[in-house]
Amino acid sequence: MHFQSFNFHPSISAAVKEAGYVTPTPIQAQGIPAVMKGSDVMGLAQTGTGKTAAFVLPILQRLVKGPQGKIRALIIAPTRELAEQINESIAVLGKQTRLRSATVYGGVNIKPQIQKLRNGVDIVVACPGRLLDHMGQKTIDLANLEVLVLDEADQMFDMGFLPDIRRILGQLPSKRQTLLFSATMPPDIKRLAADILHNPVTVQVGTTAPPVTVSHAIYPVAQHLKTPLLLELLRHTDKQSVLVFTRTKHRAKRVGEQLEKAGYRAASLQGNLSQNRRQAALEGFRDGSFQILVATDIAARGIDVSQVSHVVNYDITDKAETYIHRIGRTGRASRTGDAFTLVTADDAAMVRTIEKTLGAPLERRLVEGFDYNVPAPRQDAEFARPPRTPQVRKQPRTKQPAKTTAAPQIKQAAQPATGHSAKEARPSAAQSRVHRSRRAR
Ligand code: AMP
Repeated sequence: MHFQSFNFHPSISAAVKEAGYVTPTPIQAQGIPAVMKGSDVMGLAQTGTGKTAAFVLPILQRLVKGPQGKIRALIIAPTRELAEQINESIAVLGKQTRLRSATVYGGVNIKPQIQKLRNGVDIVVACPGRLLDHMGQKTIDLANLEVLVLDEADQMFDMGFLPDIRRILGQLPSKRQTLLFSATMPPDIKRLAADILHNPVTVQVGTTAPPVTVSHAIYPVAQHLKTPLLLELLRHTDKQSVLVFTRTKHRAKRVGEQLEKAGYRAASLQGNLSQNRRQAALEGFRDGSFQILVATDIAARGIDVSQVSHVVNYDITDKAETYIHRIGRTGRASRTGDAFTLVTADDAAMVRTIEKTLGAPLERRLVEGFDYNVPAPRQDAEFARPPRTPQVRKQPRTKQPAKTTAAPQIKQAAQPATGHSAKEARPSAAQSRVHRSRRAR
């Protein structure tokens, strides 16, 4: 299949070509025709599958004809980062159209948003809270809405946004096309879908499979040795762009500091950073000023860093879906990537659940030469304790500066990042020199 078969408007086809897209991804191949036909769509797809273009392209195609300067499409996303990322896709793919889009989210001054909306836009990408503020103040006019997209609906549910979503839905024109995208289908999302979608076409790709270009491995280790093991792994890994996940904000901050202390250019991204700090950390990671970004799941939501070479789960996830979501950041759009997970004895049940979801065992690796027998320190044992259960909060309003001071770069490993298919799950050539693979007890 080729993008030409969709018969997009020439201005859209030209942008697709310029973006370097040749073959539609499965969600695009299945989803674009359904959306272009005007059907409601239930899209089961995770980040990294090309789902954004699957709804952005048909929306551009619809809007390129007809009146301009009135909001005809509204996309609701859980986080500012995801909203910005979607807006960026609209800018890239709609570059040659005269359509205008705007983002609407909290944590920033509302006035420029009001001004932009007043000047006339065709597409709005919004987070629920600030959208409701605009609706309440009547600074947004959604009377001409034709298409509504709810993106990452399960994340919106996790973050407690469902009541806001229902309030928004109650005030939108009922005659419209609705598209709902979600990586998973918890019962509340099923109910929401049943309430708002009319005869939907269901498009499902890879909800239980991570990108095939990711190689996974787990590293059994005692809780208090996680940081030394992470440093050891990094010593032997190509560190162009490593995304490290921790369970809590506190751990993200501490691990970020420990990496800086060890000489890495690292930043941490936690849910309660100010917008400026978040942007600085994200942009620094994107442009390579930071080699390593340490983040919690909430803070990392929506990050589109197509070049992430390694995802390290410093703390294992609490759901198999979250594991797949995390590692969706690497191995995107046919690039290769590695996913390392540090596991303690307490994580055995979760490892089994993830393996069941992946349909394949995860390879256990021990790092040769690493001293696994160092006893836990008596004092300062914060990292000897398992992480607390994460606290899911709505978009935070408190601002707390993060320490993101750049540290001197250490010499990078000479070998390039390599990856293997999930099924193979073999160590990369570089790793096999330093790691002795074996089944852990
Ligand atoms: P998404 O799942 O929408 O976050 O997209 C993941 C990445 O894949 C983004 O960096 C897109 O630019 C890229 N992408 C989307 N569709 C295609 C395609 N058909 N061919 C190549 N890359 C794509």
